[in-house]
Amino acid sequence: MANHILLVEPAYYSKFPPIGLLKLSTYHKSKGDRTEYIDFKNQDQRKPKKTPKKIYITSLFTWTWKPVWDAVAYYKNEFPKAEIWLGGVYASLMPEHAKMSRADHIFKGIFTDAENLMPDYDLVPDWDGSIVFSSRGCCNNCDFCAVPRLEGKMSSLRKSIKPFVLDRHSKIIFFDNNFLANKYRMNIFKELIDFDKKIDFNQGIDARFITEPVAKKIASLKLDSTIRLAYDSHGQQKFVKQAVERLLDVGIKKRDIFVYTLFNYTETPDEFFNRVRDILNWGVVCYPMRYESLFTIGKNSYISPLWSNHTIELVQHARRVIGYGGAFPAYEGLVNKFNNASGFEEAFELYAEKSGESK
Ligand code: SF4
Repeated sequence: MANHILLVEPAYYSKFPPIGLLKLSTYHKSKGDRTEYIDFKNQDQRKPKKTPKKIYITSLFTWTWKPVWDAVAYYKNEFPKAEIWLGGVYASLMPEHAKMSRADHIFKGIFTDAENLMPDYDLVPDWDGSIVFSSRGCCNNCDFCAVPRLEGKMSSLRKSIKPFVLDRHSKIIFFDNNFLANKYRMNIFKELIDFDKKIDFNQGIDARFITEPVAKKIASLKLDSTIRLAYDSHGQQKFVKQAVERLLDVGIKKRDIFVYTLFNYTETPDEFFNRVRDILNWGVVCYPMRYESLFTIGKNSYISPLWSNHTIELVQHARRVIGYGGAFPAYEGLVNKFNNASGFEEAFELYAEKSGESK
């Protein structure tokens, strides 16, 4: 007999549909079950059409645990006989905390039986993008990143992404953590050119792998988003600079290159200032990223021993006052300001004074 399977996304903000749940739907349908997707944000649509046998609830950042617990409590109350599974990023990183939600089972990591299945996009008919993992894991092991814990070492999953791209979708969104480390990247680039769809490398690309041929391939795509690089520590300067130059040489516009810049971590405010100044002098966009502990249950609660509330607030304040969408574009006044400043305090404090706000 076909079971009714409920797939629930809790009421937190997410730009993308829950790809893991969509794959689970395909998996269960292949076993003859029926599936139903619930976006818990829609308060009047929380009740399923039929009594579920199993309920899968996903999760995202650890600090969004509260809406996850709310969803578990709601379905535990509505369907005490149904088996509730809680998976996703929060459940994988903090299983002991997740257990306190009273879900029946905590699932950690990736459900490998569904890994190679096409997500069930019928459940999200208005969504217009094929979300693809051409690889899992990462060849790097940055200690601030959840990927090595969640997905482990780099594994190139597929040479071709064709089976995972839906005709009706106008774009392809890569969720690879390090797409350019996939050994089949050149073959996939070729496919992307043939597809003629818009492309988004959502998780950013690794500057070290932007060779001249790779830069040319990237420039030949119909990019649907900015190119995102990371400059998280001084040691990456040479590679990031080289990557920026190569991307500019093949015609990518300066305003379309975003460089994510970690702060509140193991480098001092002055070292962060140096990285921001480098990026502005390269002419591209700096996007400061505040470090968060992997296991935090309260967003923005961690303060590095090298930072303080004051220095963090100076950065956040500058992002609000002179930034654009939280980023620092390399406009002339800003570049000059950073070039003339003697260090972090001077570069960032000036903006606080100028706006008349106290620190
Ligand atoms: S390169 Fe990116 S995905 Fe890989 S471990 Fe570092 S931060 Fe994580």
